[in-house]
Amino acid sequence: MNHSIKSGLQLLAASFIILFLTLVTPTHSFSQTAAPTALPQPGYYVLQLGDIQIIALSDGTAALDFTKLLSNIAPEKRDRLFKENYLTSSVENSVNAFLIKADGKLILVDAGTADAFGPTLGKLAASLNNAGYRPEQIDAVLLTHLHPDHVGGLTDGDKIVFPNATIYVSKPEAAYWLSEDNKRKAPKSAQFYFETAIQKIAPYQKAGKLVTFDYGTELFPGITPMATPGHTPGHSSYIVERKGQKLLFWGDLVHAAAVQFSDPGAYMGFDSDPKAGAEQRKKAYADAARNGYWIAADHISFPGIGHLRADGSKYVWIPANYSVYPPIK
Ligand SMILES: [Zn+2]
Repeated sequence: MNHSIKSGLQLLAASFIILFLTLVTPTHSFSQTAAPTALPQPGYYVLQLGDIQIIALSDGTAALDFTKLLSNIAPEKRDRLFKENYLTSSVENSVNAFLIKADGKLILVDAGTADAFGPTLGKLAASLNNAGYRPEQIDAVLLTHLHPDHVGGLTDGDKIVFPNATIYVSKPEAAYWLSEDNKRKAPKSAQFYFETAIQKIAPYQKAGKLVTFDYGTELFPGITPMATPGHTPGHSSYIVERKGQKLLFWGDLVHAAAVQFSDPGAYMGFDSDPKAGAEQRKKAYADAARNGYWIAADHISFPGIGHLRADGSKYVWIPANYSVYPPIK
């Protein structure tokens, strides 16, 4: 090795050591760094599925008291299942949305809460930005249902957040929540749900950007909606099949993963029809475990992507193995 290269390498090595020491040595100024101004949250997670990518986007988390929300399960069993999962019955529940990047299009599945439920939620826009996308790049939003934690992010005040997107909702879901008549007849406690759905969808509807669909026909290549009513009257799941790989967007088929994978029959208080919700859950679990495809769910701990394995009458959630994928077009 020639002398000048050798001394150059020695110099480089020495500067790396100095840089390393600078990075790991605590200094006085470091301890005086101001506290972060943003709430820490996970942001985004990428899964490669055949020739497309599914990007989980965190909208944040909110504490839910499941002693009030779960029923059709003995309280002792409920508490034991939370304990076995190193949780209490008050759980930080994730709100996830997902971005499908396919064929040069960006398709969002659900739109987060915006400001409906306090400062630990409403992070979807930040997560989208962190993933490298802007709201105006979104071509379509597929909604699993019209609850506030799924439609909240569609507007900011009266302003459309996704100006170039068409919104997709199932016909029964739109008919139920967008009906002024249903709103009038609904109990006071449900008024907020109707008001939010109408308020968030209206600007898109006015702009001619709302599509209500029938089940069974492809909306985009390899993307087909499937009826899973129970949580809401027109709740939809979305099947994505590309190059032999399959993923199913579950929406809100499960909320309390720690309990409802062991006991799918446990009812959820947010379900319009908890019995039908439980039936859909059992059907969805059995099919996912039998066929081994990917699941993406809005309220399973972020990123909410994984597989399901049957274990006797129970199910075990297997979160996706963490991998870093190169970007696709
Ligand atoms: Zn939800």
